[in-house]
Amino acid sequence: MKSFRKELWFETQSRRELINITPTVAECLKASGIREGLALCNAMHITASVFINDDEPGLHQDFEEWLEGLAPEKPYSRYRHNGYEDNADAHLKRTIMGREVVVAVTDGTLDLGPWEQIFYGEFDGMRRKRVLVKIIGE
Ligand code: ZN
Repeated sequence: MKSFRKELWFETQSRRELINITPTVAECLKASGIREGLALCNAMHITASVFINDDEPGLHQDFEEWLEGLAPEKPYSRYRHNGYEDNADAHLKRTIMGREVVVAVTDGTLDLGPWEQIFYGEFDGMRRKRVLVKIIGE
């Protein structure tokens, strides 16, 4: 069995951002030489997510508004976690958007559905953070 590991680094310009990482994961798969197997992508931080959904700007705005409705960033004082930090909302947003995705690798490609794209979801950005890509197979 072959195995491939790479860390993808991000430093967003704003606190919250959604980044389509599908092309980067596809490059990782190509570099791995793996034709059949599984690709795991996970955020390595507890205030960021990796998830799969549509790359459609209206939907991305819907995610922003939905998440702000569930766990608004402000006022910071509404959260017990915000004694020393201001990112309680980001922990909650990350939890609902998920930590990781696993994508089947078939015939050397990411075996995604027609509208499926892999996203890095940043909820407490403007600092360097990572996503782990691990691909196993043969
Ligand atoms: Zn925190």
